[in-house]
Amino acid sequence: MKLFKLLMTAALLTGLAMPAAAQKKQFVTIGTGGITGVYYPTGGAIARILTKNEKKHGIRATVQATGASVFNINAIMKGDMDFGITQSDRQYQAYNGLDEWEGKPQKDLRAVFSLAPEAITLVVSEESGIKTLADLKGKVINIGNPGSGNRQNAIDILEAAGYNVEKDLKAEGAKAADAPKMLQDSRIDGFFYTVGHPNGAIKEATAGMHKARLIDVVNMEKVLAKFPYYSMVTIPKSFYPEALNPNDTKTVGMLATFVTSSKTPDDVVYNLTKEVFENLDELKSLHPALAVITKESMLQGNSAPFHPGAEKYFKEAGLMK
Ligand code: GLU
Repeated sequence: MKLFKLLMTAALLTGLAMPAAAQKKQFVTIGTGGITGVYYPTGGAIARILTKNEKKHGIRATVQATGASVFNINAIMKGDMDFGITQSDRQYQAYNGLDEWEGKPQKDLRAVFSLAPEAITLVVSEESGIKTLADLKGKVINIGNPGSGNRQNAIDILEAAGYNVEKDLKAEGAKAADAPKMLQDSRIDGFFYTVGHPNGAIKEATAGMHKARLIDVVNMEKVLAKFPYYSMVTIPKSFYPEALNPNDTKTVGMLATFVTSSKTPDDVVYNLTKEVFENLDELKSLHPALAVITKESMLQGNSAPFHPGAEKYFKEAGLMK
């Protein structure tokens, strides 16, 4: 948006009559996650759909690989980025001033739409000997970098399973994108990654020289009761045929959501929303984890208010009254 403002200021100052197309050019940035996750290719798909019709609406989007959910919300709130992908639990916490944002509700956070489900995924190496969530004592487990959404999810699950995260295991803070290699190099016993499926990171972790398995995250009734944004999800075995586990994996999940700031202009959010919804089949074809999305599902799971630009499109399209 910065360049856009510059162009507009220049036009105003010089009183130049800029050609319509140039006047309307708007540059937006989309914060995603690590490149082997689902956020990064999803942001890329949204940018590609927008760019295809750039002449129509003048928006050009660029995608940034980032530390993910928490980083994206904070960057948008600081005005460093225009849009970002974040977990629905993080959207809820940020808007309501909980967890990372304790006492600091991010009242300018706005929902645009939700995307596909994500699952709290625990992958362990065969040599770690871990078969269930009860086998993690003394193990080296990557719970993720501080800017990620998955770090707190890992802590919630570990605490619900009865662990003291500081004392009972060695929790590492590496980025999810680095974790599969660390697992294959035997530097960690396992890692948590909250992510849509299938994705490149879990493929990398399960298809290497060292065998690996996904662990069921079950008996989580307390977690489900305590946190309104969690629900049970299943990761199909067919997504990772080389993983050791014989069945689908049951675990806790939430949704990925697309967010912005109340300060993002209505027309920008309107045009982006319209392009994404009108090209939804193309978006879904660009990544297999997006296959389950429907126009209706995209209005669910958000807790910050919708941005007025998104709402305008939803009403026009008959998706909202
Ligand atoms: N859910 C992850 C996080 O926010 C990112 C997943 C992804 O990049 O696909 O930490």
